This record gives sequence, structure tokens and C-alpha cells, in this order.
Amino acid sequence: SKTAYVRTKPHLNIGTMGHVDHGKTTLTAAITKVLSERAGGGTSYVAFDRIDRAPEEARRGITIDLSHVEYETDTRHYAHVDMPGHADYVKNMVTGAAQLDGAILVVSALDGVMPQTAEHVLLARQVGVDHVVVALNKADAGDDELTDLVELEVRDLLTAHGYGGDTAPVVRVSGLRALEGDPRWTGAIEALLDAVDTYVPTPVRYTDAPFLLPVENVLTITGRGTVVTGAVERGTVRVGDRVEVLGAGTETVVTGVETFGRPMERAEAGDSVALLLRGVPRDAVRRGHVVARPGSVVPRRRFTARVRVLSAREGGRSTPVFGGYRPQFHIRTADVVGAVDLGDAAVARPGETVEMSVELGRDVPLEPGLGFAIREGGRTVGAGTVTEVL
Ligand code: GDP
Ligand code: MG
Repeated sequence: SKTAYVRTKPHLNIGTMGHVDHGKTTLTAAITKVLSERAGGGTSYVAFDRIDRAPEEARRGITIDLSHVEYETDTRHYAHVDMPGHADYVKNMVTGAAQLDGAILVVSALDGVMPQTAEHVLLARQVGVDHVVVALNKADAGDDELTDLVELEVRDLLTAHGYGGDTAPVVRVSGLRALEGDPRWTGAIEALLDAVDTYVPTPVRYTDAPFLLPVENVLTITGRGTVVTGAVERGTVRVGDRVEVLGAGTETVVTGVETFGRPMERAEAGDSVALLLRGVPRDAVRRGHVVARPGSVVPRRRFTARVRVLSAREGGRSTPVFGGYRPQFHIRTADVVGAVDLGDAAVARPGETVEMSVELGRDVPLEPGLGFAIREGGRTVGAGTVTEVL
């Protein structure tokens, strides 16, 4: 049988973000390779094509699903999400980034800051990622003067989004050369990991709050039943706990808890887990549903929010939004249509931050402070925070 996951170090969630082709997946693979070679490290190497792995991705050549890998440094256990790079998948990034304790911004030293670099920094800020470490990748192929300029450019970008670009660690790396085992560049990966270990603080987890997990995926394990996966937003859960599946309108018992394929006694806020649910039919549960302690949350559909309407330069609209606008709202893992009321303002221009009230097409668990993305025609056009549930 599989060995259980034993919690010996703080667990953190981090992820790579940045423009397509700047080397996020290569770097992710290189991190696992370098750590797998540390003595007593507890990390397994995950090759590039196992990170970029869903069958659809291979065909379309872009990352569609968020891929998770795990690794351990001397002081921490990390779950790492290799963020998709393409603008069409920003939605997935918003969902995954919502639980990131820190991010590695990958910027190619050859290309510098590109539109998706800026878009991801903006979204990271929006979903509450407070610490960003920069990997200036492809440093093997760039010249030093150009790389210096790119570093300044990235620091300016971070400062412009409130990240303290002067103090953020910027490490020059080569994911590709590190994967090939070149000692200069495996050393650079070590330096990057040290920067992550020291610059991203261990987060305070809401383990005392009632359990809540937004469902990311649903699968069936033959002979065992329906499994939901996702990251625990708050509280704890263990085998035998009663839970409610909001959206499915059902209550059940958790009969298994796993992380990265290993059983665990108790999952807590911040953990990426799979929960086996007793007697729940596969088609009753969907991405966007929420598993929670029974009675702890009441789904609602009306709320007020503060929303930043993204400018065209940020990948958003070039024309204003008016009352009666009905875009998609991405709240936790749910994707729901909503009608917007702008009140007296009546119009919201790209680049502005406005107050609005929203009526969703269906009830979802809502609370003040909850972040969300507004999408339209496959693009992210707004980023908001719930101010009041009505
Ligand atoms: P992603 O889209 O950000 O995940 O980028 P990938 O990891 O798929 O890399 C895109 C391309 O850049 C591939 O052809 C990689 O081999 C190449 N690449 C990635 N890292 C490096 C690096 O450190 N140096 C060089 N020279 N090329 C790299
Ligand atoms: Mg990739």
C-alpha cells in the first residue's frame, strides 16, 4: 500500500507564472530535478512532458489544465502549479492562483516583460498573492547588459503593482541548462529555491474555521466511488467527517483523504487533496461546487463588489461597460453568468475601478473579501472583490 503523507514541514502552495514560452514548464521540471538530487530530499523528478501532460495539451500545444507537482526543500514541502501561459487560460490561473502563498514570475532574459507577464502580475495582485520571486530565465543565452535591462524592467513592473520591486529577489537561471545537469545552472536553481524559502513567508492557515474546499475536478475510481479534487480553502477534514456538497444539494461522508496519491490522516487549509465521497454519483458533482462542513455556508446570488475593469493593454476591453452587462463571473472554481448594475455611475471605462451590484444566475457561497474574475468571450475583462453579500 502507498505510504502515508506525514506532515513534517510547513506546506506552501506556489506556482510559476509568466509569458508563454518564457520557460515556466522547463523551470518547473528543473526544480524537481535539482531537488531530487539533494541527499534525503524527498522529491521525485518530474520530467517536462509529465508536467505538460493532458492529452488535449499535446494536441494543441498549450497548457489547458493546471499541473501540480510536489517537492521538498530542507525547510518546506511545496505544491507547485505550473501556470498556463496563454491568455485564453487566465481563467485557470485565477482559479489556481487564488490559493497561492507565493509565485515565481518567469521572465525570459532574451525577451523581457511581455503582455502576459504584466497580465499575470496584475492578476496575482488581484487574487492576493503577496510575494513574487523573479526567475530571469534563459540567462544562458542572453548577454549581461541586456539581462540587466530586463531586470530593471521587471522590478519596475513589480513596483507598479505594489510588489516592492526594489527588494524582490531576482535570480538569473537557466531551466534548460539545469535540466542538462550543468553545475553553474543547477546552482542557480538552488539559489532560486533559497530565495523562495526565505522571501515567501509561511502563511497563517485558517485551520480553526469550518472546512471548505472548492471543487476543481471530479473523477471516478473504479470500485471506490466519486473523488473530488481541489485545495482546502479553510478548516480541516479527515476520514469520517460529514460534509455538504453545495451545488449538488447533497450531504455525505468523506471516506478517503489523499494528497499527491498518498493517504493522509487529516487535510488542512492550504493542502491540495483528493476526497473520496460516499455514495455520491459521479454526475451529481461538478467543478465549481463547494464541499463544506454542513450548514457552515449559505449560497447567495446578490452582492456588491469593487471591480477593476481591465484596460485593453491589460488584455481587457477597449470599450466601456454599461448597466445590464451580463458577463461570466469566475468565483472560486465556479463559472456563473451575472447581471451588472452600475448604479448612478452608469458607465465603467477600461482602466477604472468601480462599485457595482451583481445578481448571479445561481446561488454560490459568497462572503466579503472573496476575489473573482470577470470574463467575456474567452478574455478576462475585470477583477473584483466582494464587498457585501445581499
Ligand atoms: P512555457 O510556455 O513558459 O512553459 O515555456 P517552456 O518551458 O515550454 O519553454 C519554451 C521554450 O524555451 C522551449 O523551447 C524551451 O526549451 C526553451 N527554454 C526554456 N528554458 C530555457 C532556458 O533556460 N534557456 C534556453 N536557452 N531555452 C530555454
Ligand atoms: Mg508551459
